[in-house]
Amino acid sequence: MMTMTAEATVRATGPEAVGLDSVTRTYGAVRALDGITWTFPRGGFTAVMGPSGSGKSTFLHCASGLDRPSAGTVRIGGVDIGRLNEAKRTRLRRERIGFVFQAFNLIPSMDVERNITLPLHLGGAEADPAWLEEVVRRVGLADRLRHRPSELSGGQQQRAALARALITRPEVVFADEPTGALDPRTARDVLRMLREAADLTGQTIVLVTHDPMAAAWADSVVFLSRGRIVDELAAPTVSAVMSRWETL
Ligand code: ADP
Ligand code: MG
Repeated sequence: MMTMTAEATVRATGPEAVGLDSVTRTYGAVRALDGITWTFPRGGFTAVMGPSGSGKSTFLHCASGLDRPSAGTVRIGGVDIGRLNEAKRTRLRRERIGFVFQAFNLIPSMDVERNITLPLHLGGAEADPAWLEEVVRRVGLADRLRHRPSELSGGQQQRAALARALITRPEVVFADEPTGALDPRTARDVLRMLREAADLTGQTIVLVTHDPMAAAWADSVVFLSRGRIVDELAAPTVSAVMSRWETL
């Protein structure tokens, strides 16, 4: 059995973690993505913002290999994922990508520890005890490992989902409105943990959100409108994000 090690891999913001070239995704006559070219640097925390229906979720699904673009290229860690068959794409997702969704998506019948280690078990691997302890400590759930999701608050459930995303030491974490169902204080906890994943272990974070407070945690904000990237804002503040947002 393969074992994940706890060896820390700290990377500086650097070359491309995820790259899109002229990515288009259509649903019938709807162009949900209309020719997106973008590079997400390694170890960077990028927020993707846009109004409802601007293509944020479609963007995240295509960039993470959950969905295939209608045209264009997506690279993850230098691999053109369009050239991989379904099985290889699934494996790449499982080993190199973490996901966090608005709706948590925990398995109700499993306790917190089992939920967190699920991606490892699906890949036939065991959790390295030291790394599991570190991840559980970071998300503050050490005393909740034997609880079921229904016994946790929304914030705790999302922190369990974040631990599940981090347990495989993914190169990239994609989060789709992860704070959409949380109150401001628990939202801040989750955002701080995403920030730590970039700062402490060099993970690349792509956060889809329509909340300027959430976007301000990122290194850079990319604005989507009608399936296109229309602007980027570096070193965002809440007020700068809000003023840019109003012109979308
Ligand atoms: P956002 O996440 O920014 O709200 P989406 O990516 O969900 O936007 O949607 C972008 C556009 O694509 C919308 O017009 C939406 O109606 C359309 N769309 C998204 N998913 C589907 C689908 N599975 N079938 C048909 N249209 C879709
Ligand atoms: Mg969406």
